[in-house]
Amino acid sequence: MSNNIIKPNIVWPTALLLSITALIALIAVPWYQIAVGFEWTHWLAFLLFAASNGLAITAGYHRLWAHNAYKAHPVMRFLLALFGAASFQNSILVWCSQHRRHHRHVDDNEKDPYSANLGLWFSHIGWMLRKYENGVDDFSNAKDLQRDKIVMWQHKYYYFIALIMNIAPPLILGAITGQYLAYFLLMGVLRLVYSHHTTFFVNSLAHYWGKKPYSNENSARDNGFIALLTYGEGYHNYHHIFQNDYRNGIRWFHFDPTKWLIKTSSWLGLSSDLRVTPQFKIRQAMVARQLEIAREKLTNPTFINAIKMRLGSIEYIHWRTALEKQIDHEHKQLTELLNEWKTIHSQWVLAKREQLAEASQSMQASLDLHNLKHQLKALEFSMKQQYRRVSYVNGVLS
Ligand SMILES: [Zn+2]
Ligand SMILES: [Zn+2]
Repeated sequence: MSNNIIKPNIVWPTALLLSITALIALIAVPWYQIAVGFEWTHWLAFLLFAASNGLAITAGYHRLWAHNAYKAHPVMRFLLALFGAASFQNSILVWCSQHRRHHRHVDDNEKDPYSANLGLWFSHIGWMLRKYENGVDDFSNAKDLQRDKIVMWQHKYYYFIALIMNIAPPLILGAITGQYLAYFLLMGVLRLVYSHHTTFFVNSLAHYWGKKPYSNENSARDNGFIALLTYGEGYHNYHHIFQNDYRNGIRWFHFDPTKWLIKTSSWLGLSSDLRVTPQFKIRQAMVARQLEIAREKLTNPTFINAIKMRLGSIEYIHWRTALEKQIDHEHKQLTELLNEWKTIHSQWVLAKREQLAEASQSMQASLDLHNLKHQLKALEFSMKQQYRRVSYVNGVLS
């Protein structure tokens, strides 16, 4: 008995909500489909409500409030707070303070509330089911959110708002059509279960499955398939290194509807100050990661033995010396480019600030700014070339 570890108490309201809704979704939804049959209008209501809940979490809870990746008009913040509450994932204040702890202490089993190191089940759902110490409310990292009136209003009336937002929409459509049960099952329950687990995938699967193109410092990974299920949050390796960027999928072909929603809202005047990581910094992280991969390969005994067999001992030493020299050279160039970029970028920021402050813009100031921008572009290009070179070396090594 002395070896038994005492587990923290179960959080019954959460455990019951998650299990009862999941059981209804697994049993009653297929039963209704077979016995009565859903219509396309029921599925449309499900899709629209699921998307509005999911996007309120990703664009609102996550990118706006947890990361301050942009600023939003009160109308937009109100809608995000309302539809976010419909997802039944706690208030903005609680959700964001936990999420900020996750970023700050990622993979730390004592401090990260949903540490991926404690397993797929724990990071997906287990962390919510018991009163774990690292899950206790602590809003010391969310002072800015405590000054947001909409956040505090939603926090105060959270259960009431969440309940209304879950019950009213299916009830209204049920009253209009007389098909209460169909809307309750799809738009009510299946939508809630879907919203829950797609968000939870970001904490679980996106820390287990995928690639690490930017950083190996934590377990977060980039996965295009998870992005399809999570409104673009699957590019999690990128997100953990550049958490204030309003985008998660940065390429045009990346599926990131959250990014598209935020961008569209800025055209409508509902959001502003969208934060974007400079292209140079992104590329620099990618080069550093590629160099790290090259070094890892040179310490891999299986890989080294295969090369030795192919080249012979003498030739292998020449090959290795040349390669190590190239990696060192690339590393040195990376540092030099970064230092140069930092200097010019800070000059550019200063010049831009001065230009904005001056009522009349002098010809010389505009020229200086143009010149600095040109230099930054040139450095960006050099970094792109370096990335091509280093990934070519890695391609040859694989
Ligand atoms: Zn994460
Ligand atoms: Zn985040």
